[in-house]
Amino acid sequence: MFESLSERLGGVFERLRGRGALTEADVRTAMREVRIALLEADVALPVARDFVEKVTEKAIGHEVLRSVTPGQQVVKIVHDALVDMLGPDTAELSIDVTPPAVIMLVGLQGSGKTTTTAKLSRLLKSQGKKVMMASLDVNRPAAQEQLAVLGTQTEVQTLPIVAGQQPVEIARRALNAARLQGYDVLMLDTAGRLHVDQALMDEMKAVADIARPNEILLVVDSLTGQDAVNVATSFSEQVPLTGVILTRMDGDARGGAALSMRAVTGKPIKFAGMGEKLDALEPFHPKRVAGRILGMGDVVSLVEKAAAAIQEEDAEKMAARLAKGQFDMNDLRGQLAQMRRMGGLGALAGMMPGMKKAQAAVDQVGGDKVLIRMDAMITSMTPKERAKPDLINAKRKIRIAKGSGTTVQDVNKLLKMHLEMQTAMKRLKKMGGLKGLMGMLG
Ligand code: GDP
Repeated sequence: MFESLSERLGGVFERLRGRGALTEADVRTAMREVRIALLEADVALPVARDFVEKVTEKAIGHEVLRSVTPGQQVVKIVHDALVDMLGPDTAELSIDVTPPAVIMLVGLQGSGKTTTTAKLSRLLKSQGKKVMMASLDVNRPAAQEQLAVLGTQTEVQTLPIVAGQQPVEIARRALNAARLQGYDVLMLDTAGRLHVDQALMDEMKAVADIARPNEILLVVDSLTGQDAVNVATSFSEQVPLTGVILTRMDGDARGGAALSMRAVTGKPIKFAGMGEKLDALEPFHPKRVAGRILGMGDVVSLVEKAAAAIQEEDAEKMAARLAKGQFDMNDLRGQLAQMRRMGGLGALAGMMPGMKKAQAAVDQVGGDKVLIRMDAMITSMTPKERAKPDLINAKRKIRIAKGSGTTVQDVNKLLKMHLEMQTAMKRLKKMGGLKGLMGMLG
C-alpha cells in the first residue's frame, strides 16, 4: 500500500537530502511537491493544505541540529506530521467493560462490513474473548446466512436467525442472549445501503439506542478514495462513531482515504483490512504506516538520536554552570528553546518555580507563541544585558520591548521569571542539592 505516494515523497527527499544548506525557497519548493504528491494520492484538499502548512512552518522556523543535514531534518518533520495526521497512537478498542461489550459495525453495502465482523470476531476470540455475532441486515437477501457461514468458518457463535424480525428486535434478542450465555463481546453487523440515506441513519440510531454499543466502528472501503472520506463525514455527523476500519488496504496504492480519515472525522483508524481471508485484519499502527510511506526509518532515527545527544550535551553544560550558581539570560534562553523542542518543560524547568509559570502561560495561550515572544525579548537584549540582567533599567526595558514587539510589562514578567529561577538555583546550591540535580540532568 501507499506505493505511489511513497515513491513521490522519496523523490522529493532525495533532492533535499544531499544539500548542505537549505534556503526557505528550497523548503517551499519541496513542500509544493509534497502537496502535489498528497493530492495525487487522493488526500482530501483541506487535509493536504493543512499538512503542508504545518510542515513548512516547522521546517523554516527550525534550528538545525548539529550533526544532521537540513534535508534529514525536514524528513523527520514530515514524518512527525504524518504520524500526527494518522493519529499519534494505536487506538485500542474500549471493551474492558461489564460484559457483554457491544461492538457495532456500520457502513455502506459492499464496504466489507460482514467480512470484517467475522475477522474482528476471530481476532478477539484468539485473544481469549467469548464472542457472539449477530447480523441485523434484513435488507440484503441472505446477509444473515452469510454471517452464519462465516461464523462456522471462524468457529464463532452466531445468533440463530428468526425470519421476519426487524433490526431493533434482533438487537434486543442478541443482547439478551449474550447476557444470559455469558459472552464477553457481542458483534452487531448492521445493514448497509448503496448510498448514505436517512432511513439507514435512523435505523442505526434506533439500534444504538437499544444496544448502547461501546464501539461504533465505521467500515469503509479505502479504494473509494475521496468517496470514502465523504461517506465517513456523513456518518460521523449522524452517529457517534468511535473509530474507523479501512478495508481493502491491501489493494490501496494511493492511501488518500487512510491519510485523510482522522483529520476529517476526528476518529482514529483502529483496524485495516488487508485481504479477503479471515485472518487479514491488522490493528492500525500510525507510526508504522508513516514509516512505510516515507521508507526512511534510518533518517528518522538518526535525527532522533542527534536530538537526544544534543539535549544531553546541553544538560551537562547547564549542570556545570549550575555548579557555579550561574543562571543568566542565555541559560534561560536555552531552557526556553528546549521547552519548544520538547513541547513541554525542559530538563531543568520542571524544578523551577518560574518555569512552571511559563509553562502554565504557554498552555493557556496555546502553542509556541509565548515562548517565541520570550525568545524575542532575550534576543533584543545586548550581550551584556543577557549576562547581567541587573543592568536592565527602565530605559533599557523600553528599548527591549520595542525591539521585540512586546510591552514593558512583558519584559518585567520575563525578568521576574528569571530572578525567581536564579534564586531557586542559588538556594539549591546552598542546600547542596546539586549532586542530586546533576544526577537527574545527566
Ligand atoms: P458488506 O456488504 O459491507 O457486508 O461487504 P462484504 O463483507 O460482503 O464484503 C464485500 C467483498 O469485499 C467480499 O468479497 C470480501 O471478501 C471483500 N473484502 C472485504 N474486506 C476486504 C479486504 O480488506 N481486502 C480485500 N481484498 N477484500 C475485502
